[in-house]
Amino acid sequence: MICRLCDTDNLKFYYSQGNSNQYKFYKCKTCGLVNYDLAGGLDQEKYGGKYITPALEKHKQNLTQRATFEFIRQHIDITGRALDIGCGNGKLLLLLRDSGWDVTGMELLESYAKKIIEDYKIEIIIADFLQYCFDNHKYDLVLLKHVLEHLPDPILTMTKLNNLLKDGGYLIMEFPNIESLEFKFKRLLSRVGLYRKKYRAGYKPGHCNEFSKDAFKYLLNLTGFDLIIWELYSNKAGSSKLFTKLNIGSKARVLVKKK
Ligand SMILES: [Zn+2]
Repeated sequence: MICRLCDTDNLKFYYSQGNSNQYKFYKCKTCGLVNYDLAGGLDQEKYGGKYITPALEKHKQNLTQRATFEFIRQHIDITGRALDIGCGNGKLLLLLRDSGWDVTGMELLESYAKKIIEDYKIEIIIADFLQYCFDNHKYDLVLLKHVLEHLPDPILTMTKLNNLLKDGGYLIMEFPNIESLEFKFKRLLSRVGLYRKKYRAGYKPGHCNEFSKDAFKYLLNLTGFDLIIWELYSNKAGSSKLFTKLNIGSKARVLVKKK
């Protein structure tokens, strides 16, 4: 197997998933990327679900989008054109529009997209990001939340994002941090036999690649971005603010800038 980020074969077995450990993940000793062996098969259909209206402020889905919005407010002092790739129910687009951004969404689920267009008159492109041919419109801000880890080719993904941005444009991404304390602890418990996850029948992984800060920086260097902010957060109720403050959540929220 060859690492999907740095193209070397410097991979070592890292951990497995599945009730008979049939899904294997390999960590690259050169760049740090954790590569899932795609020969095991992927399941990316499991992420749909019921459409939650953006008006339900206290719903977990809307709270996580508001957290992203607060991050933008805190760190970006411009407004302009924003594109949210994988925009879900459109909550973040609404918050951005209300604060002066000109917004467009992209969503694979047609039912979600139609609902946002109908209820809020926001432009939503119904398409797969990697397959879609964008016109010459350039954006000041692009958002990609919990998408990167699902796409097999991270370099192609970031190159396409780079082309979408104006010079000096911002990209905000969220993805799991595979070297977070939480995941490290689980891997340790699993190695010594104290933790064994039960997988539902028919389970297959949905993530092709898992990133750490090192692997992500390696990717940015290859694709023309600077890392401005790397913060960790947790969605777990109650602990979220504390975890963000202590920077020990299991998910990364990053601000990067096109060179
Ligand atoms: Zn590598």
